[in-house]
Amino acid sequence: MTIRAAFQGIEGAHSAIALATFFAKLQLDCELVGTPTFREVATAVVSGRAEVGLLPIDNAIAGTVRDGYDLIAQYDLVPLVELDWRMDHRLLGLPGARLPEIREVHAHPLVFAECGRFLATLAGARGIPAEDTGLAARNVAAAGDPTHAAIAPPEAGERFGLVELAANVADHPENITRFLLFAAAGDQPELTRLHHLGTRRKTSLLLSTRHEEGALARCLGILAEAHINLAKLESRPRLGRAWEAVFYLDLEGDVAEPRVAQALEQLRGAAVGLQVLGSYGAADARAPGLPPPPTASAGGGVEPVPPADPAAAGYPKVARAARPRGTRVSLGHGVEIGGDEFLVIAGPCSVESREQMFATARAVVAGGARALRGGAFKPRTNPYAFQGLGWEGVALLAEAGRATGVPIVTEAMSIDQVERLSRESDVLQIGARNMQNFDLLRAVGRQPKPVVLKRGLSASLDELLAAAEYILAEGNPNVILCERGIRTFETATRNTLDLSAVPVLRERSHLPVLVDPSHGVGVRRFIRPLCRAAKAVGAHAIMIEVHPNPKEAKSDAQQALTFDDFAGIMADLASIPYAGGSPG
Ligand code: PEP
Ligand code: MN
Repeated sequence: MTIRAAFQGIEGAHSAIALATFFAKLQLDCELVGTPTFREVATAVVSGRAEVGLLPIDNAIAGTVRDGYDLIAQYDLVPLVELDWRMDHRLLGLPGARLPEIREVHAHPLVFAECGRFLATLAGARGIPAEDTGLAARNVAAAGDPTHAAIAPPEAGERFGLVELAANVADHPENITRFLLFAAAGDQPELTRLHHLGTRRKTSLLLSTRHEEGALARCLGILAEAHINLAKLESRPRLGRAWEAVFYLDLEGDVAEPRVAQALEQLRGAAVGLQVLGSYGAADARAPGLPPPPTASAGGGVEPVPPADPAAAGYPKVARAARPRGTRVSLGHGVEIGGDEFLVIAGPCSVESREQMFATARAVVAGGARALRGGAFKPRTNPYAFQGLGWEGVALLAEAGRATGVPIVTEAMSIDQVERLSRESDVLQIGARNMQNFDLLRAVGRQPKPVVLKRGLSASLDELLAAAEYILAEGNPNVILCERGIRTFETATRNTLDLSAVPVLRERSHLPVLVDPSHGVGVRRFIRPLCRAAKAVGAHAIMIEVHPNPKEAKSDAQQALTFDDFAGIMADLASIPYAGGSPG
């Protein structure tokens, strides 16, 4: 099989040369897939345009490449092997060019950071940033100006007809970049060999600690007690939480080792957030060594997979087999769905006014809601009914979310709302009436925020899962499936809340399952027992509609809960066990 490998840049870039060298040494066929940005390297792999991707995570001179870690974390990619690559930086120019006459130096911004000392010796030369090393060389060749030069490896010089003006231009000859080669989550036996390359096993984590004295020390103490050596520890700010930090942490050892697994379990208890990117070996890309033959039982490999489910053929990325251990979706502000905690999302059907939104936000968050809902663009059956406050409603919801410190969920009705909502909301909702609006699904699949996908009024569960596949296929893995009632012959309730959907969806898919009893039953007094039922049957979360004065609600008044109703539901839920994020 030919392995398609995504990298940032064009041929001639360091990553392209590292990939080609690595696969040639392993005698594996590889097709290089260049993309313009780091993010597209990740999405190429998630969407199946490439089997593996390569991103830099660290450079021996310039330090951590945050985008590399962040994208691997954000897209839940599985590291296969770390490739160590000695960067051969040379100054390349047109034939006949002379070093003292160079006025422009083209290079990748990371390369400028690695070659500061040499550049300082080129008096009068300006640095021109290029998207990648290959492009830097190609641009210099295309301009045909002998006063222009590029910092690039000799292979790029050969490819674009440039000659060497200076060698070893990095600040230190030990200029090694660590790249991670990664795949999408799921069973890919042909990649298992890569996952067992290299000798030293490492595990990468993103860790956020409580903002209190000694919190980091306690986390590090857990690793020290388990005799786990740290290979790297670096902090960076948490966006939106000034002065709180996230730590990038590499440790020596593999999650398949019991001592590491146990320590990580303890760490999970001590930290506010822990994301294990995965375990991998470190290999020299020029001499990776012979991989051991593939073994079915090799520990620590890509997750084990149950037998294929024939119904899942239409939605391979959504199917349980793609991630047998289930998916946790982060909603922002440290709130996670599909994990250790049963979540309640609450708020009004529609955002109506500042007073209504703030009163509701304060009441539900004080009562234990972990996220706030509110419709600003409303899909109303009747065109003369209240249509929502639009962008003003989004702004009020966002303000209420900030004031109470929780993420917000709001509905996107059309493609032209998606880009802005992706900036202004933490989670985008696709309403029941749009479950099969495939262009809208694609649009939310191409933006980074998580998506609540509501089941259509008369959609089967397989249709819901296939709709979710549209979103994952575009590169967004963060989808929450929502059962919100379906049309049946029954008229006693607004819809029929199909609670059997929960175990079915949990069996067929790894995505978290949310239940919306408000729309599901549509009658205020029946919502409370159905909230209990939803938690008991294994939902990861519920979403309910609450209003300061239900009679006055401009939409869905019959199903709006009072603040007292909400408090009663929260009290009920406390005594019901949560099935948790475990499979099945
Ligand atoms: C909503 O949640 O506000 C909504 C309109 O729900 P649905 O799309 O499930 O009818
Ligand atoms: Mn509603």
